[in-house]
Amino acid sequence: MIATCVLILGDCSADSQPVHRLSGNDGPMRNVQRLVVMAVALAAVAAACGSEPDPDEAITAEETVVAEDNSPTDAPEENEAVQDGEQEGGQDERQGAVQEGEQEGGERPERPAGDGDGRPEDEQESAEPDVPVDSEDAAMRTEIVRSAQWADDVTITIDGNTVRFESDGLPSHEYLDAYLADGPDGKYLSGGAEAYDASFEFPLVPEAADSPSETSNGPIGVAISGAVYFDPYEANGEVVANDDNDTIDGVPFIDACGGHPIPRGTDYHYHGIPYCITDAVDTPGAHSTLIGFLFDGFPIYGPQDSDGEEPTDLDECHGHVGPTPEFDDDTYHYHIISTSNYISECLSGVS
Ligand SMILES: [Zn+2]
Ligand SMILES: [Zn+2]
Repeated sequence: MIATCVLILGDCSADSQPVHRLSGNDGPMRNVQRLVVMAVALAAVAAACGSEPDPDEAITAEETVVAEDNSPTDAPEENEAVQDGEQEGGQDERQGAVQEGEQEGGERPERPAGDGDGRPEDEQESAEPDVPVDSEDAAMRTEIVRSAQWADDVTITIDGNTVRFESDGLPSHEYLDAYLADGPDGKYLSGGAEAYDASFEFPLVPEAADSPSETSNGPIGVAISGAVYFDPYEANGEVVANDDNDTIDGVPFIDACGGHPIPRGTDYHYHGIPYCITDAVDTPGAHSTLIGFLFDGFPIYGPQDSDGEEPTDLDECHGHVGPTPEFDDDTYHYHIISTSNYISECLSGVS
């Protein structure tokens, strides 16, 4: 259905090729036929073009095609596993897999378009003076953001109160290149991680919200490794990924770095402590080092409080106010901890 729709749209933009091919047949007896066929073809093309009244539908079709193109091409056995699983799989599992991908795919393009208030980006830039930003705070945070230990393939751009993160989405450390999907016949190996255009924005100077906002499946922030953070839950919003960490044939659901890709072979993301980052940047006995930002602009850290132990005063969003190695003054920041629910499932700031 979707493929047909895309093909029809392709014909619309390709100047109706069937008519062109017909004009190459010059038999004198075919003039009437040609006119009739051309009329029919034009009517079909017009009907096809006219059957696409909603631009949102076109976007959905394109996203679906992109998602299908992301299937691993260099691992035929994994492809078979995915197809087998889908053919044998119950609707629940497949829908769960698609849901995560769709929500992920649906959320990503929206982020670069704005800082979350729904206005176009150029409008936001022109409206910057309306947002009171403490210039001293902004200068301090600019320095902190710029000097974070971003991986080599991460590009950080600061424009006014907006920080833009761009990378290929793959972490700079080794990672699990398979997804342990849950089918009706048990777990099976699904797609691995793939690069994508990871482009996200968050405010340079965060602003506390009146009340926390719940996260949904999909990215909630960016990591210095180039990958992203998800909330604790897998596709259906109920399974806590780390608590469901089964292993099959030596392949775990969540890898030793606290993450995994999504089922259809795309984004690598963390659901808990990104040990492969924190092991490299944290110092025993001291507060954890900055390892990224959530989409409200507040910084996020590993599991160590100032005494080197896990904090015990975190709020419902896994945040607290206190000093960190980067911030001289007490500042609100998130922690990822080693017990459920591991990572924030709400944002304390405006995003
Ligand atoms: Zn996941
Ligand atoms: Zn802390």
